[in-house]
Amino acid sequence: MSFDSQSWLARARALIGDAHVLSSDRGDDLSAYTRDWRNKFEGPALAVLRPANTEEVQAIVRLAAATGVAIVPQGGNTGLCGASVPGSTGPRAVVLQLGRLNRILDIDVENNTATVEAGCVLQTLQQQAAAVGRLFPLSLGAEGSCQIGGNIATNAGGVQVLRYGNTRDLVLGLEVVLPDGERLDLLRGLRKDNTGYDLKQLFIGAEGTLGIITAATVKLFAAPDARVVAFAGVASVAQAVQLLGAMRQRLGERFTAFELISGEAIALVRHYFPDTPAPLQGDWPWYVLMEAADGGDDAVLREAMQTALMACMEDGQLEDVALAGNVAQGQALWMLRENITHAQQMDGSNIKHDVSLPISRIPAFVAAMLPQLAQAFPGARPIVYGHLGDGNLHFNVSAPAAIEPGSWQLQTDAVNQVIHDAVAALHGSISAEHGIGQLKRHELPLYKSAIELDVMRRVKQALDPVGLMNPGKVL
Ligand SMILES: Cc1cc2nc3c(=O)[nH]c(=O)nc-3n(C[C@H](O)[C@H](O)[C@H](O)COP(=O)(O)OP(=O)(O)OC[C@H]3O[C@@H](n4cnc5c(N)ncnc54)[C@H](O)[C@@H]3O)c2cc1C
Repeated sequence: MSFDSQSWLARARALIGDAHVLSSDRGDDLSAYTRDWRNKFEGPALAVLRPANTEEVQAIVRLAAATGVAIVPQGGNTGLCGASVPGSTGPRAVVLQLGRLNRILDIDVENNTATVEAGCVLQTLQQQAAAVGRLFPLSLGAEGSCQIGGNIATNAGGVQVLRYGNTRDLVLGLEVVLPDGERLDLLRGLRKDNTGYDLKQLFIGAEGTLGIITAATVKLFAAPDARVVAFAGVASVAQAVQLLGAMRQRLGERFTAFELISGEAIALVRHYFPDTPAPLQGDWPWYVLMEAADGGDDAVLREAMQTALMACMEDGQLEDVALAGNVAQGQALWMLRENITHAQQMDGSNIKHDVSLPISRIPAFVAAMLPQLAQAFPGARPIVYGHLGDGNLHFNVSAPAAIEPGSWQLQTDAVNQVIHDAVAALHGSISAEHGIGQLKRHELPLYKSAIELDVMRRVKQALDPVGLMNPGKVL
């Protein structure tokens, strides 16, 4: 039977309302939904659908399943792997934009949990938790626009994984609409629940390929009263790793963030954001941004941080250090870190890598990689930074200065191979936190075992036998 897009759109409009079905045939501009954040991936969509609640999501999924239309779930569209937009080939698809499911359903202060709809913007959840003296610790550069559903679907990491874990560690319960339109209610706020398979884990990090997350119950924590930020210069990655171990030993649970930043990354930020002050007097090849947080008095934590840092200096674990004097100075130091992605985008073409390794192997990896890249790709500019405390490096390689615009991306596979082969040899991962999406789909078979891929395919087949849930992503 031939597909009649007009009658499909009319059915969708009858289900969720005329205003919430955007389609180009009536002049709506879909590009904000069909093109990804990096302008790297774009694919056609029959429509962009914005349901208001779980029932409307179910109705749309049932319509799509009955008519063979693929669904691309989308949150804030800030993902960096092309997973949130349609592929350029594959079955006819719609984008299911979750932004209208944005209510905070419940904050249970005694249980230390929040139950939120999937389209709630991360920052809104952080703010609502803070308003009742609680912390939702997931924190990342895109927090003003990414949504909790997208965070869960990508198992987002961010800057406080060291203390609180990845999104996977923060989720207690989920509500999911399955590819056949059934609602799977796992929305429990339990910290202990040993009743068989932990099904929610299947959907965390699945990049929307197994179902649509419509709500979640997440953990909250006591909001720290005191927070101290420090910025250190180190001579090498090996010294940074020593510093990490020493600071963890000295501050324990109070140590919440440890970000490694190369001198080149800092220079890039200061070039594109010229008002950025120099964080330290001298220049160092590597820097470390650290944060500690705790209940109680600011001065007590500051004293503990200062004592720990001075001891590290005496022990040769850092070269120079500055402690933020107040909240504004702390935020300014964090902006140095957050602006790296933006500065790189302004700087032009770069080939991104989001790898993880056992922390102990990172110095050897970086030491081997820099000369290897210089030899293989003369003039290429590695911009290295990342959540060193989690063994996660963003090992991005910017185009050589004198290269034809557009031609650097043609080297992507070759650069990836050099870096990802080295990561695999050290038993690391080619995707620490951003996911696979379309970007690394072709690389997955190179670095995962056949049996691991086979089990993943069997799970996909069991839940989405027709393959209409975010096709062309991950597998
Ligand atoms: C400046 C910047 C900084 C970033 N920093 C970090 C960082 O530190 N750590 C990190 O981990 N990531 C980071 N990211 C990547 C990105 O922001 C996160 O991965 C974020 O979690 C994606 O959320 P989103 O709502 O934008 O999801 P989208 O981009 O819309 O979607 C991402 C994936 O999730 C799926 N999805 C979205 N919503 C749902 C749903 N309700 N149900 C099922 N599937 C769904 C999509 O289909 C897609 O596969 C950063 C991105 C930017 C732009």
